[in-house]
Amino acid sequence: MKLYNSLSHKKEDFIPKNEKKVSMYTCGPTVYHYAHIGNLRSYIMEDILEKYLRYAGYDVTRVMNITDVGHLTSDGDTGDDKMLKGAKREHKTVMEIAKFYTDAFFSDCAKLNIKTPDVVKPATECIDEFIKVISSLIENGYAYEAGGNIYFDTSKLDKYYVFSDFKQEDLAVGVREGVEEDSNKRNKADFVLWFTKSKFDSQELKWESPWGTGYPGWHIECSCISMKYLGEYLDIHCGGIDNAFPHHTNEIAQSEAYLGHPWCNYWFHVHHLNTEGGKMSKSKGEFLTVSLLEEKGYNPLVYRFFCLQSHYRKSLAFSYENLDNAAAAYDKIVARIVPLLSASGEVDKEMFEKVKAPFDEALANDLNTSLAITALLDIFKSDANDATKLSLVKDFDTVLSLGLIEAAKKLAEENKEEELPEEIAKLVAERQQARKEKNFALADELRDKIADMGYVIEETRQGTKVTKKK
Ligand code: AMP
Ligand code: ZN
Repeated sequence: MKLYNSLSHKKEDFIPKNEKKVSMYTCGPTVYHYAHIGNLRSYIMEDILEKYLRYAGYDVTRVMNITDVGHLTSDGDTGDDKMLKGAKREHKTVMEIAKFYTDAFFSDCAKLNIKTPDVVKPATECIDEFIKVISSLIENGYAYEAGGNIYFDTSKLDKYYVFSDFKQEDLAVGVREGVEEDSNKRNKADFVLWFTKSKFDSQELKWESPWGTGYPGWHIECSCISMKYLGEYLDIHCGGIDNAFPHHTNEIAQSEAYLGHPWCNYWFHVHHLNTEGGKMSKSKGEFLTVSLLEEKGYNPLVYRFFCLQSHYRKSLAFSYENLDNAAAAYDKIVARIVPLLSASGEVDKEMFEKVKAPFDEALANDLNTSLAITALLDIFKSDANDATKLSLVKDFDTVLSLGLIEAAKKLAEENKEEELPEEIAKLVAERQQARKEKNFALADELRDKIADMGYVIEETRQGTKVTKKK
């Protein structure tokens, strides 16, 4: 498989350290609010990466943290603690907020067919681990105490800005939002590993440490949780592009300083979902959630499909018009599967491999999901028999996870319920003909007649739909 690596800034052959075993780490959500559909774009694409690796025969172990402490409103060391802010907003404790939004996150993931990683670990459950690594960094001269806090000393590194081909505005995240300079820092880029003295007197969660009662910085949690469960070498680290700096940059700095050798080989960054107002973000307050899409009548899997239609390394513009187009395309695919459901007979193995090849190639080429969707559509155009086509759809959907077979079964059920009496079917056909001939008066007359007989006609994206009045 070829994968774009943000570290080398190019597409590379993906070669795991341990032959067929892959260790994969994902930055989890900060659970102070619902995940917005931008966050979920990142998780959908990371899910596809994991599933494709499994499909290609790798044995993947994937770990994700839950950020329930230490993430300030700027990605640097300034602003409020996001969790504390969320708790105040809802008049709840930090742990109540964390539990509520962690559950909400996994419920959204389930609706989007995002697999739960093998290990999911809240930061608050790994404090001993953080203290161990920070102590070692201090011993080795990579960290220092100042004003009661522990800082990582970035001047000790040969290279700190490892992802430096990012645009200046991406690199400036932490600095942009933090107006006040922290005078304890020896170098501008230094970052906090452990807070003991901070402006948050009301910080709810604090732990004893060799440096006094306090709490960890945000960046240290991902390094420690990854190393704890995946060891000293990591194959792939994932996250949204906004996390490349300072979060991932700091993760690399502290992990490699601690380990004394390179840590993670491939960095997979998903670009942003944008709305007309720019990047969707939780801190802006107004954002789109899966529940909101459901309230508006969208199947969450249509949003997944919408995300798969574009490449993860391009920013994606969200609009309801774009989502409607995705819904129409999704429904069309589902409708084409319905006649295949009753397929009998043997799967043609040779044909199966032939139709599958472009799908495999698309995903093996830096996860080109839009080409993989084209390959899915090509199943219906192929000369394969129905049993082979059905088997291919099932096979592709182990990676795409669009719930295609379930949706087709549901549609088949609905169609069955809606089998029309001969008389009605005849009138519907006559009405179609009248519409074709632009004889709208007759078409309306027939619609009324059909209505009098207890049936409702609706024009939908898939064509005319006739249902019995309830
Ligand atoms: P957070 O819960 O803020 O820690 O973010 C969770 C994940 O969503 C991280 O990997 C972020 O990089 C990613 N993310 C944040 N905003 C967006 C966006 N608008 N589009 C795609 N991914 C995003
Ligand atoms: Zn992280």
